[in-house]
Amino acid sequence: MTQSVCPYCRSAHEVSAIAGINTSEAPALKEKVRDGSLFIASCPSCGKTYLLDYPFLYHDPDLKVMIWLQGSGNEGADALKALGAAASSLDGYILRTVSSPGALIEKINIFETGLDDRAMELCKWVCSQEMEKEVQGIRFVRLEGADNEIVFSFALEGRMMSAKAGFNVYEDCRAILARREAGEGEDGFVSVDQGWVLENFR
Ligand SMILES: [Zn+2]
Repeated sequence: MTQSVCPYCRSAHEVSAIAGINTSEAPALKEKVRDGSLFIASCPSCGKTYLLDYPFLYHDPDLKVMIWLQGSGNEGADALKALGAAASSLDGYILRTVSSPGALIEKINIFETGLDDRAMELCKWVCSQEMEKEVQGIRFVRLEGADNEIVFSFALEGRMMSAKAGFNVYEDCRAILARREAGEGEDGFVSVDQGWVLENFR
């Protein structure tokens, strides 16, 4: 249990904050990560729901993926550094940090679909450049149909929308990535997001 302050009425109350899960040991909790409910609290004072803000480690030993959800504070930064150093020696592990539950869920979707998240971030950037209007929070949702069309969600003028792109866009991005060796030699937990794309491809 940990103290949480409701952002609406500022009252403090206890919430159950889980520090992390191993998906092979806690399949039920994994579903609560996937649907986001693990990160939502309901305030006993005013009844409103809000997103919890605390560090969380998602570990899928089958996919060899560890994803660290950062809280807004510096809480857990030392633990993450130590874990990153230890996990770097684990063969073939993908180590990522994300800054929101939505980004965590997207990463899980990408890895469970068997995709490379770096190529997907580049693909999202390419697709967002081709959209006419200013879109925000573009996320990979799933592959669809026989041609593996990529389904994205995004926000436009406050509304959630979706769009599709051909799988060839992703494949092109993966080829570019391989040529540029983007992200090679990165150690420990890495944030791979739209900022990462701009750093590596501009
Ligand atoms: Zn409240």
